[in-house]
Amino acid sequence: MRSEITSFTTRLPPVTVLPSRNILTPLFRKLLLWTGSWLLLLPVTSLAQKNRINRIVIDAGHGGKDPGARGLFTNEKDLTLGIALRLGKMIEDSLKGVSVVYTRTTDVFPSLRERHEIANRGDADLFISIHINSTAGRSERVQTGTTTVGKGKRKRTVPVYKTIHHRETSTSGTETYVLGLHRTDQKADAIGEYSDQVTDEPGVMNPADPQTAIIIAQYTEAFLVRSVNLGAKIETALAATGRRSFGVKQKGLEVLAGSAMPGVLVECGFINNPTEETFMASEEGQKEIAHAIYKGIREFRAESER
Ligand SMILES: [Zn+2]
Repeated sequence: MRSEITSFTTRLPPVTVLPSRNILTPLFRKLLLWTGSWLLLLPVTSLAQKNRINRIVIDAGHGGKDPGARGLFTNEKDLTLGIALRLGKMIEDSLKGVSVVYTRTTDVFPSLRERHEIANRGDADLFISIHINSTAGRSERVQTGTTTVGKGKRKRTVPVYKTIHHRETSTSGTETYVLGLHRTDQKADAIGEYSDQVTDEPGVMNPADPQTAIIIAQYTEAFLVRSVNLGAKIETALAATGRRSFGVKQKGLEVLAGSAMPGVLVECGFINNPTEETFMASEEGQKEIAHAIYKGIREFRAESER
């Protein structure tokens, strides 16, 4: 039951709502003061709506002792770092007036708390987390032969089976997550096809905890619309390169909740799809993905500052 609740995710309808104003209710302020851990890291003052984008945090998922998902010949942590560094360079080289803050630039493992601290201390305006997807694979029962059982009249031939586990997937494509909650009746859709990936993500929050639910609700009220807009632009740019796009989805991800700014988590492709793994491990692949994310950010920034 609990796992059903903690691993929630849904596809988002197109968002047309405008961001709402009063984001700092007294209760929210109180919660920020009460809750220990990562919630304290949200600096209340920087929660105000801000449309200028001068600083962008780029978070390469996993790292160091945490390899993330594994492919045939790569680990997620190396692919995320490669894409993150290329993306950061494109932003620094081409987006005038925008600086980049990295949560890591080498093979180290910052905790979620440290990643949030880096983002919030840097007074950044956007948080971009780079991850690589994976599926749990599937099992198949195949007949490998027959054997004879029983004696005399009861003697008969029965099939022999064995279970083969296929780790590889033919699923390919990208998806972008934003932090959010949704109604429980949408949960079914939620889990479905991607249930196997959900538990894989570090720091999935428990919305059954009332304080967490309120924090997520307040965060989404402040940042959801802008985050979805950004996510949609990134997915559109990725799709324009010929990739399959699963669109923008929402999930209770702690990696996004701890940063007081709009944020997205981009799943750049499936590491256990050999074709996508080869693509994501190549220089051209990493450049193409980074450039699409860059284009999404550039367009979002132009629109925000208009
Ligand atoms: Zn990951």
